[in-house]
Amino acid sequence: MQSDSSRLGIYIHIPFCRTKCAYCDFYSFVPDTEDIYERYADAVIKHMECYRAAAADRTADSVFIGGGTPTVMPTEQLVRILKAVKRNFRLAKGAEITVEVNPATADKKKFTRLRRAGVNRVSIGLQSAVPAELKALTRTHTLSDFEDCFRAAREAKIGNISVDLMFGTPLQTKESLLHSLDCVTRLSPEHISLYDLKIEEGTPFERIRERLALPDEDTEYDMYVKAIALLERRGYRQYEISNFARPGKTCRHNLKYWNCDEYLGFGPAAYSYFNKNRFSFVRSIEAYMRGVEDMESRIGITVGSEEISGRAQMGEYVMLRLRLREGIALGEFRRRYGCDFLEMYGSKLDFYIKRGYMRCREDNIFLTPAGMFVSNYILSDILSFADLNALSPANSF
Ligand code: SF4
Repeated sequence: MQSDSSRLGIYIHIPFCRTKCAYCDFYSFVPDTEDIYERYADAVIKHMECYRAAAADRTADSVFIGGGTPTVMPTEQLVRILKAVKRNFRLAKGAEITVEVNPATADKKKFTRLRRAGVNRVSIGLQSAVPAELKALTRTHTLSDFEDCFRAAREAKIGNISVDLMFGTPLQTKESLLHSLDCVTRLSPEHISLYDLKIEEGTPFERIRERLALPDEDTEYDMYVKAIALLERRGYRQYEISNFARPGKTCRHNLKYWNCDEYLGFGPAAYSYFNKNRFSFVRSIEAYMRGVEDMESRIGITVGSEEISGRAQMGEYVMLRLRLREGIALGEFRRRYGCDFLEMYGSKLDFYIKRGYMRCREDNIFLTPAGMFVSNYILSDILSFADLNALSPANSF
């Protein structure tokens, strides 16, 4: 998993959904007119053209069309966007090209057209195979919609399918989670993501949190550990906190985020990391489209641009790499930053290693499943410890 500075990921955000799920804080909405699709595709295409020269010396080896629900958009508009990606960026041979899908929004015909336009991977959002849990999540599809969608993708010769599931959701039990995993693994997708439900600020779920019948933390931990064991038994190796893959089927695009590699994101609320800068675009489709349509007016669409260098870059690397099962490779860390990871973080790491949250094997330091379950806490603790350490005159990195 060495990083390659000439490689680039392209992300395109499609902010449309059929309905808005009560737990979701992604930038997405239900459009009130069909006219918006073509106008939005025009804006994204024009925006990509602006980056053509800047990215001319990079080769894109992953493209991810995410959302929202990209397949809510008419196929012809998605195909136009894919053609524009190929026109504006140099694509690597065998580039991974993913489209996110929700059940009941794509059939064999749609998948076939997308495959002909270059798509070779789809990611289907199921979340749960249990009707009552889907209802509690305010999802509007059924398990059989998902199965139809999965089969349609296979019939359209999509050889790489990922399925999203959630745990820690209302009404869920350990048994029902294992049942959902069983339903999914029977179909043999190449990749499975299993996300922990977070109650996000400003969502309808936040307002009714007390009434949600959520599993307690011990049950959730049990769910997580049992799910990892079931997936590993069925040939899915955990390679990141929430991600599992058959051999050779890890998600190249998402690995770019965790390896601190470059990617360019297009669309409202899309993030980029390019030329050592992190930036994002405005979280409003109207402001985004107006800004791109009328470049001369210089309506600003970029928000929060920040150069990431020195200590900040190292902090990001630690935070993102520890999400991966292989964790931090000590030699690679020394090569990148010219300092010793154990010297910098050693006493903090000892604390977590002794309690079984981290492990050190050969050249790597990594989180155990128990550590992954509380990774947010551990990562912020390690990083604030390093920041305090940096105040010491002995550390002048
Ligand atoms: S389908 Fe996905 S993106 Fe759309 S509202 Fe639901 S969770 Fe959010």
